[in-house]
Amino acid sequence: MLEQLKTYFGFDRFLPLQEEIIAKVLAGRDTLVLMPTGGGKSLCYQLPALRFKGLTLVVSPLIALMKDQVDGLRANGIPAGLLNSTLSSKEASLVQDQARQGKLKILYVAPERLALSGFQRFLQSLEVSLIAIDEAHCISEWGHDFRPDYRNLKSLRRDFPGAPVIALTATATEPVREDIVNQLGLDKPEIFISSFNRPNLTYTIQPKTETLGALLHLLEKHKDGSAIVYRFSRKATEETALELSERGFSALPYHAGLERDLRRETQEKFIRDQVQIVVATIAFGMGIDKPDVRLVVHYDLPKTVEGYYQETGRAGRDGLPSDCVLFYSYGDRSKQEYFISQIEDDDERDKAHTKLEQILAFCDLQTCRRAYLMEYLGESWPKTDCGGCDICLLPREEFDATEIAQKVLSTAIRTGERFGVNYLVDVLRGAANKAVRNRGHHELPVFGISRDVDSDELKEMVRSLVTNGLLVQQGTSFPTLAVSAQGRRFLNGREQLTLTRPKHAAPVHQAATSERETAYDTRLFDELAALRLEIASDREVPAYQIFGNKTLQQMAFHMPRNEVEFSKISGVGYAKLRDFSEPFLKVITEYMEANGQSAAVGPVPVTAPKKRVRGISMSIRETKDLVAQGLSFEEVAERRGISETTIRSHLERFIQEGGQVDLGHLMPPEEKRVKIEAAFKEMGEARLTPVRDALGDDYTWDELAVVRMEMRQRESQGEPVA
Ligand code: ADP
Ligand code: ZN
Repeated sequence: MLEQLKTYFGFDRFLPLQEEIIAKVLAGRDTLVLMPTGGGKSLCYQLPALRFKGLTLVVSPLIALMKDQVDGLRANGIPAGLLNSTLSSKEASLVQDQARQGKLKILYVAPERLALSGFQRFLQSLEVSLIAIDEAHCISEWGHDFRPDYRNLKSLRRDFPGAPVIALTATATEPVREDIVNQLGLDKPEIFISSFNRPNLTYTIQPKTETLGALLHLLEKHKDGSAIVYRFSRKATEETALELSERGFSALPYHAGLERDLRRETQEKFIRDQVQIVVATIAFGMGIDKPDVRLVVHYDLPKTVEGYYQETGRAGRDGLPSDCVLFYSYGDRSKQEYFISQIEDDDERDKAHTKLEQILAFCDLQTCRRAYLMEYLGESWPKTDCGGCDICLLPREEFDATEIAQKVLSTAIRTGERFGVNYLVDVLRGAANKAVRNRGHHELPVFGISRDVDSDELKEMVRSLVTNGLLVQQGTSFPTLAVSAQGRRFLNGREQLTLTRPKHAAPVHQAATSERETAYDTRLFDELAALRLEIASDREVPAYQIFGNKTLQQMAFHMPRNEVEFSKISGVGYAKLRDFSEPFLKVITEYMEANGQSAAVGPVPVTAPKKRVRGISMSIRETKDLVAQGLSFEEVAERRGISETTIRSHLERFIQEGGQVDLGHLMPPEEKRVKIEAAFKEMGEARLTPVRDALGDDYTWDELAVVRMEMRQRESQGEPVA
């Protein structure tokens, strides 16, 4: 099994429970697998599929994911196919033929197909060895995602009595679990429940003040990674996406009110790394299997802890450190309370209220957030430092905040409750700057009243008063702070106030993340990532399907020099070794030569190498020169010992960056050229696939690509293409 794991998937060892599950499946037992997102569920049926004689049928409700999965399998050299409503009938019958002829090992099908009698007949003609039910909770009305189609799945059991069934889900409470077993008619199933802890995620709650600034800061930290920002309303997603775009970030909104095609396009762009940030309502996420999301932000208070766990769960599927940040304010709490008070049904309202209380308790915690989540999910959790939440990373202590709170609130009142946190802090600390003097605020009795307190500490204090409801924030672009009714009661009633603050003794940057980072060469990583993106766009697949970040990090750490060494990298199986070792090895070699480094023995120094190599560009230029000499793709490929696809992508990259090269000898005959150009223009398309679909098989990919390049060249020279 280990051998197959390495050969096909490139991995050296199993993730927890995978081996046990696979063993049971191979022994013909029915199994139910409960694992969190990123736990490695797919492998539990994909690996057995390779061992069984017949076909493995996978039922999945997420159409968008099917293609992703199938592409991923094919990239690993595993024959797989799919049948769903996105296929034309011609394409579908082709897949059916392949399945009948035993040419596929894995076939993904959408559940609604199972009700069609024609489809049932087709299934009857197959030799099915294993049935996998993905997102199995969809079968239960108790679940959050019930799909009536899933009720048809029982027929599979009847039709293929000899094939074991494996049901998989990332969300299953006790009733849902029972439902899955009963509805699917699982036979004495072996049930596997893995921990739902996500060790690579760091949970942080931040006060919701200067939120945009805080968000920008987070995005800056994760500027090389994908991020999802969740917002409460549709309108808010659009506003925030716009604000981010205006500040130079690549961000798009996503919500259920947008047109279907636009939604699909946004999703696609996100998956392909063509947009970095999606600002979304919770409508975004189902069907996003992107493994390298580095940051999930809840800009507004989520409604439930379950929702929060699910949404944050979309970060870091690849197991690499990722951040989950929630902005919390008292205002959001009141907003939600108001919405809940509008619910008419008593039961529903009570339920919503309980849920709100739970998420509020989570936000207000002074103890480990992970422990709360785990207990919420019904898992026991040791009360030790988790090393991955704001509380554990930055221990807090209680202190008497009565006096300082009185000062802050008085200052807010004296200045007219029209200013934000920075201004208040200026007045409190006695900063007689122009803004303060112009308003005469330097003459107020509160001016300089907290001169002795550090300004960061004061800001934290003000935020804390917002979080605790004594101050309320008004407006969004330039939020001002006013004293709430509760704040006034506190002032007038001379109440005591106890708050918490970070313990000063604790090292502030006791970063769990730094320990987790491996000492790989980040420059080389960047070079490799650029190559990966190039290959991925050429193949029109997401970059992570070429290699995951973990795999690139390993390359940038071990710096393999030849195929044997390359094959040892985790994530490199036989198909990827065959298809990609060459270009990646080339970049690594060039990099090492340029930096005078021999391969890594022991940890690589993380210090950045002096000379920035442009391994890829050098290679691209070489390709371009050969094309300019009049060689065909094939000849260049042969001459350079690189695949034709790579040659083509070199040239595209060169042209995309504004380069010019004579393509005359590569051009298809004029008649064809005209048709291709017309098709690109008519469809308003830059991608090859739709144009190729429209024109048919008489046109080769190369012909389409060359015409597109030529159009781009004319465009960049300023000639109108039309
Ligand atoms: P799930 O469906 O449970 O959310 P996936 O099957 O998508 O999880 O796997 C999550 C990630 O873990 C994927 O990037 C996958 O390639 C990786 N993975 C799966 N099994 C292994 C393994 N044995 N070793 C290393 N990585 C693995
Ligand atoms: Zn913790």
